[in-house]
Amino acid sequence: MSHSSVVADPSICSPLPVLGRDVTVPLVTGGEVTYAALDYAASAPALQRVWDDVAAYAPYYGSVHRGAGYLSQLSTDLFENARRTVAGFLGCRADDQVVFTRSTTDSLNLLARALPADCRVFVFETEHHASLLPWQDSQVTYLDAPRTPQQAVRTLERALADRDPHGPALVCVTGASNVTGELWPVRELAAAAHAHGARIVLDAAQLAPHHPVDIADLDVDWVAFSGHKLYAPFGAGVLAGRADWLRAAEPYLAGGGASRKVTRRTDGGVDVEWHESAARHEAGSPNVIGAYAVASACKALTEAGWADLVAREQRLIERVRTGLAGIPQVRVLSLFGDDAPRVGVISFVVEGWNSSHFAAALSAEYGIGVRDGLFCAHPLVRTLLGTDPQTQGECGAPEAAPGEKSLNAIRVSFGAGT
Ligand code: PLP
Repeated sequence: MSHSSVVADPSICSPLPVLGRDVTVPLVTGGEVTYAALDYAASAPALQRVWDDVAAYAPYYGSVHRGAGYLSQLSTDLFENARRTVAGFLGCRADDQVVFTRSTTDSLNLLARALPADCRVFVFETEHHASLLPWQDSQVTYLDAPRTPQQAVRTLERALADRDPHGPALVCVTGASNVTGELWPVRELAAAAHAHGARIVLDAAQLAPHHPVDIADLDVDWVAFSGHKLYAPFGAGVLAGRADWLRAAEPYLAGGGASRKVTRRTDGGVDVEWHESAARHEAGSPNVIGAYAVASACKALTEAGWADLVAREQRLIERVRTGLAGIPQVRVLSLFGDDAPRVGVISFVVEGWNSSHFAAALSAEYGIGVRDGLFCAHPLVRTLLGTDPQTQGECGAPEAAPGEKSLNAIRVSFGAGT
């Protein structure tokens, strides 16, 4: 079974070859199917360039920072070069640290563990669960969904003004929504945070694959993103930004690599001196190939040229949105309205259709792989659908009966590699 390419227009097709533009997948029922995987917001297919770079290095990997042998030296070199490449990709300040993690979720959990005592956290209810939930051990203020970017800034300003101005505070905000694709006013939110003595971390999981992210220019304190959404394979993510809170915190994981000196005390216990560099939070043997792949993706995107990639993606967004607007039963979900700047992430419901069945039909009948559900942003999707905030529906839960409000949505997403 085969479906022709969904995206065949060369003015839209990316100059960046990916492994899964029209992907051929073995079926559990036997045989195989060729289809268009348009679920980039979940995981984007790896760039051919990334795959080639990894394949060229893979036979030579060794342990980093540990061995005297050639393979170890080579791997250490590639690992630390990858760190520098990521720092450049993110426009890091001279004293920022780049910590390699497993993913955005991991990065934000690391930061949550590194918060100073009594830190207050401010987060909009619209966030992906990865940026909504890691702060539960701190005092968290959940902010209501704004309906305009300006309202987001005003809401944050009001909340920050109400707090004790002397204690530490952190704002966590997404750069681009994984549900609506809408861009958030990061620069303005950062200015508001800093004006009130708070710091800000940018969840760039959905922004970094679509737009350049410059930590110094946006004036955010930290940025987190995932390699597997940035055209690298699974397993590596990044937390980059201010070193002071990271240095002052207990290591995220205790173990070798994070510790500089370990000594036995006379009372029988053990004393540890932890590294002050990024290694402090990278205990254990790091994912060198993952870091190398992330750096390769960063280079590929930069070399392809953001202006061209963004322009192509905007044409594709326009085409998909115009197509959907022509179908009366379709309602596209949006917080900030039709004119809001956005990336290639579009969620919608189809009147009279169970979203899960619709997504299954898109796959089986048209060869288009999308996502259905609540996209790990349950409060936001319920707000957008107008369903009861207490609804128990989970991702993939049974859908509403015909005529009732949809409990799930359908999401199509694409990007620079589409
Ligand atoms: N933040 C946003 C906005 C996301 O869309 C996602 C994943 O979809 C995450 C965080 C979590 O990313 P990961 O699953 O790679 O940790």
